[in-house]
Amino acid sequence: MSAIPQERRVVTAIPGPKSQELQARRLSAVAGGVGSVLPVFTARADGGIIEDVDGNRLIDFGSGIAVTTVGASAEAVVRRASAQLADFTHTCFMVTPYEGYVEVCEALAELTPGDHAKKSALFNSGAEAVENAVKIARAYTKRQAVVVFDHGYHGRTNLTMALTAKNMPYKNGFGPFAPEVYRVPVAYGYRWPTGPDNCGPEAAAQAVDQITKQIGPDNVAAIIIEPVLGEGGFIEPAKGFLPAVARFARDNGIVFVADEIQSGFCRTGQWFACEDEGIVPDLITTAKGIAGGLPLSAVTGRAEIMDAAHAGGLGGTYGGNPVACAGALGAIETMREQDLNGKARRIEEVMKRRLSAMAEKFDVIGDIRGRGAMIAIELVKDRATKEPDAGAAGALARACHAEGVLVLTCGTYGNVLRFLPPLVIGEDLLNEGLDVIETALAAV
Ligand SMILES: *Cc1c(COP(=O)(O)O)cnc(C)c1O
Repeated sequence: MSAIPQERRVVTAIPGPKSQELQARRLSAVAGGVGSVLPVFTARADGGIIEDVDGNRLIDFGSGIAVTTVGASAEAVVRRASAQLADFTHTCFMVTPYEGYVEVCEALAELTPGDHAKKSALFNSGAEAVENAVKIARAYTKRQAVVVFDHGYHGRTNLTMALTAKNMPYKNGFGPFAPEVYRVPVAYGYRWPTGPDNCGPEAAAQAVDQITKQIGPDNVAAIIIEPVLGEGGFIEPAKGFLPAVARFARDNGIVFVADEIQSGFCRTGQWFACEDEGIVPDLITTAKGIAGGLPLSAVTGRAEIMDAAHAGGLGGTYGGNPVACAGALGAIETMREQDLNGKARRIEEVMKRRLSAMAEKFDVIGDIRGRGAMIAIELVKDRATKEPDAGAAGALARACHAEGVLVLTCGTYGNVLRFLPPLVIGEDLLNEGLDVIETALAAV
């Protein structure tokens, strides 16, 4: 697979002297608003390893935020993108088109749920895909309102900030936000007042009631939801919630949009997380895992909805860049050939077994959840009150980083430690990373 030895190695402090030197330069040249989880500068990366400029090798439990599902220099991605680079880098699909764009749209039609006629449009970032899904839904329904959910995350552009739930760090000071955006409850089983068992139907009833009473279904263009909420804390909506909301959308002529930017492309052990409850979204937004690390995003959906926008109404200079399209075709080839859905399910098995054993020893673990290689633990000060423990999440992440395991945090309360390993990670590395997490839990 990779030229980089697949083994953890810590040979300096983390970050090491070369990283610290680069970080000093970065601090004077790069805007302070752009943060980094761990200021260790990357030299190369692939498989389950990130090698830094000081020669440390970190076990990667982040995949650059669920992007490098196939690894960070996957053979098929490098091969196809390199060949495309040599042929041409850009023409702009809106000026003179090229085959790779069409091929990616064909693959999206084939891989996304539902056997209806589908079309796609390609963009660069996840936020751009979400914005375009809203444009398309508004053009199709001739309605304006957009419904989103508590704990939802959809990006950092102006419209997607409005769609995103959490103030800090995403929105604070950056208003005013786009109008006609409404937020309703989501089925967060762990924190639902009457417990997880009734959560799905109860939360759906509340969401439907709010839409009906406060907005009016006839005013709603789109309902947008992440089938597994990512930045909000790896929340799997309790069973029954997604089907009920999708049914309500269908009954009321509302475009149901699944934002699968983080959960899509084998991440949860299925091509798309909404398949888990048999949901067929009208539109689906994808990005992150789609192209093996190259910037690409898409909106895919029912042909009649996708065609609602007038010619020239959608697009962008770089959208569906040919090198990124070649990367996507390489990533999809890798997912198919290496059965990465199967790998994701195996990662879930290993992680949940190990994390459950840790939960017996460490009371700080309040909940273990997620699917496939999108797994998290929610940390609490007290299992009875479920008071969030963001301090523990930060301390655990720091302890893991110092030992050469890259983990990320998330959650509305900042108290969720999330694991997003590349699906091609070796099982020995996966277990070693979990050993380090276990040691860190004992120390915190
Ligand atoms: C990351 C993410 C986005 C935004 O994608 P960018 O490429 O960062 O703009 C939107 N929705 C979800 C669910 C995401 O995880």
